[in-house]
Amino acid sequence: MSKAEFPTSRAALATPALGEPYLLTPGPLTTSLATKEAMLRDWGSWDADFNQVTAEIRQGLLAMAGVDDDSFACVPLQGSGTFAVEAALATAIPRDGKALVLMNGAYGKRAAQILDYLGRAHIDLDKGDYLPPQPEEVAELLRTNPDVTTVFLVHCETSSGILNPLKEIAEVVKAHGKSLVVDAMSSFGAVPLTVEQIPFDVMVSSANKCIEGIPGFGFVVIRRSLLEAAKGRAHSLSLDLHEQWAYMEKTGQWRFTPPTHSVVAFRKALEQHTAEGGVAGRLARYTRNRDLLVAGMRQLGFATLLEDRWLSPIITTFFSPDHPNFEFKRFYNELKARQFVIYPGKLTIAESFRIGCIGQIDEAVVAQLLRAIADSLAAMGVDRCQPAA
Ligand SMILES: *Cc1c(COP(=O)(O)O)cnc(C)c1O
Repeated sequence: MSKAEFPTSRAALATPALGEPYLLTPGPLTTSLATKEAMLRDWGSWDADFNQVTAEIRQGLLAMAGVDDDSFACVPLQGSGTFAVEAALATAIPRDGKALVLMNGAYGKRAAQILDYLGRAHIDLDKGDYLPPQPEEVAELLRTNPDVTTVFLVHCETSSGILNPLKEIAEVVKAHGKSLVVDAMSSFGAVPLTVEQIPFDVMVSSANKCIEGIPGFGFVVIRRSLLEAAKGRAHSLSLDLHEQWAYMEKTGQWRFTPPTHSVVAFRKALEQHTAEGGVAGRLARYTRNRDLLVAGMRQLGFATLLEDRWLSPIITTFFSPDHPNFEFKRFYNELKARQFVIYPGKLTIAESFRIGCIGQIDEAVVAQLLRAIADSLAAMGVDRCQPAA
């Protein structure tokens, strides 16, 4: 089925007819034509016009996080999301501090690995591939480890697609007087995360996830008191968030060469985010995508890794069919030939794959995808999609 058959779909119109596939992945993802077009100009990194763009996005992100300028700052940082996570951890945790890392997937594990590099003490609560950390477990660990200064939690653990119980855990952390660092990389902009509802101290996300920009930078929304206390704390010149902030406050500029095209594309993406109804609007569209995807896949016989109550509107993990003809690589290529790019699984327990619901896609695109999946399975001779028992 070609995209031209859905002329009324906003998303179908958004993707240029270049034979470019839809990226059903957790970023980089399919961006709108307007966002791509915003990049057709060069900018001087020292120029007042570009500084204005930087100021606008910092302001826009603070507003989205529901924080005010007096108590929080937004510090963008060049690089992928992990660079911003590393900078945030190096800033938020004193050198003699200790972190409690809550993990249930690759990104929680990565945070612990970063702390090892940084030489910061940490204890871990590892729930395996897909079980959520529970608030009571966190309370117990904080009670028995009073030297913990900082708790780290991934909001949507993109490796399984689970939406962790952030609000409940944030309240436990606050009640114990510890600071909370949230990796909201794959949720910010689509799942409500304001400081009023969720008492966080540090929140990290990046340009190419739910705000639907292109890769190039991450950003940290951080309590000013933490930032001010962090002078000289970082282990790295280029990842020193305090210095990045101090320089930006003083000059309006990025400390080193900014990803100019990514920044202007992001401002365009933020405008579209607002026009769609902000976080609520985006959540509604992603949720519709997810609901149609999961229902359609179940109809084909697929099973989700997670129970419904843990499914995020970001990305969903499906078990691979237990069928001799099913091979992920072939499935991927069949779908790509039909203009859809999906994502491999990241589970240790079972063969799986993931499909994202984010980016410039809507229900018409998901319906096309479901037909492409049925066609691909038929081409492969896979007539049963149930996973192994
Ligand atoms: C995408 C993502 C990151 C950052 O990954 P990069 O590849 O460095 O951009 C971190 N945490 C989560 C939960 C993510 O989804």
